[in-house]
Amino acid sequence: MSNQPGDTPPPAQRIGILGGGQLGRMLGLAGIPLGFKFVFLDPAADACAAAAGELLQAEFSDSGAARELAALVDVATFDFENVPESTARALLEVCPLYPAPNALGASQDRMAENGLLTHLGVKVPTYHQVSGRTDLLEGLDALGYPAVLKTRRLGYDGKGQAVLRDPEDLERAWQNLGGSELILESFVPFEAECSLLAVRGLNGETRTWPLTRNVHSNGILQLSLPGVFDDTLQNKATKTMQLVLEHIDYTGVLTIEFFLFQGELLVNEFAPRVHNSGHWTIDGATCSQFENHLRAITGLPLGETQMQACSIMFNWIGAMPDREKAMAIPGLHWHDYGKSPRPGRKIGHATLTADSMEELKNNASRLAGIAGGEFPVLLGNLFD
Ligand code: AMP
Repeated sequence: MSNQPGDTPPPAQRIGILGGGQLGRMLGLAGIPLGFKFVFLDPAADACAAAAGELLQAEFSDSGAARELAALVDVATFDFENVPESTARALLEVCPLYPAPNALGASQDRMAENGLLTHLGVKVPTYHQVSGRTDLLEGLDALGYPAVLKTRRLGYDGKGQAVLRDPEDLERAWQNLGGSELILESFVPFEAECSLLAVRGLNGETRTWPLTRNVHSNGILQLSLPGVFDDTLQNKATKTMQLVLEHIDYTGVLTIEFFLFQGELLVNEFAPRVHNSGHWTIDGATCSQFENHLRAITGLPLGETQMQACSIMFNWIGAMPDREKAMAIPGLHWHDYGKSPRPGRKIGHATLTADSMEELKNNASRLAGIAGGEFPVLLGNLFD
């Protein structure tokens, strides 16, 4: 029954988040208008999500702290998938946790992830397990050059990986990565990279946002442009998404990153969380990835996922361009994560929205000119 005038209001639903980075911060910023309160667990005293709630400062391996977090909240989730599965399971003893820890397990190890996708009949780049130098040489015999050597665990934003184009690269990469469990993948000369984000509710209802084209440089996302692929690709990606979501009985937002190669989609990886390539949804979609993730894990009805405007997202890595100049561009939405700048660190983003692709393209060129660096060239390639 709904509240009557004079009734004491029900206590706000409290949400615990393992991880206090920008994804946690944006979850918090999306949840405050819905009446949620947030507690973040993060090892950093200056975790930027703390601006949107309370911070419990502890290591991700600290199961006791995870239980403490769980005791303070009604439901918990992640902003970071490399939380040890044991921490997630400890938390789950005290409060519900979505997505469930099995989704973490499947995404933390690239061998397990590729194994699961292959089992589901989903195409991935050809791969070879590397536990020693002999495996690597065998793998290169089978796959040939070029190939990509990656750590099985804890790799992100291109860290923990190297492209092998010749035996010299092999030696260098082996010196850097040889101490870890590895996977060798064939190098995919893709036409484009893209990602699909979907949200699945507690009742299994699923919605997907438009497939988004992504541009990376040195393994780090720079630009995301949704709504530029045809229905055939959108449907193919959605089919893959459904297989994964249902197989792991997933709740919340899941992201799958693809390579588009000769008309086919190959899965690069999936992330059991909200994702950088979905940041445009805050300003460009009816319901953002952040709000829909919160709706899903609290059992609220899911929001609409269609694009409301043509949109493009620029990532600010290590430094931010001139805010005043950028904000003079029509349809500019500025997002500062409140993090201290450091080379290679994601410290903010901006999304441009416009009524037409032509207007978007013109305004994006202006923003690329202000941002400088690689943006003018990357944007030129994207709109070619
Ligand atoms: P990852 O950390 O696996 O998402 O890789 C970061 C980026 O490296 C990807 O977005 C691609 O641009 C590139 N990359 C990774 N794996 C491959 C591959 N097998 N073939 C070609 N490029 C790759």
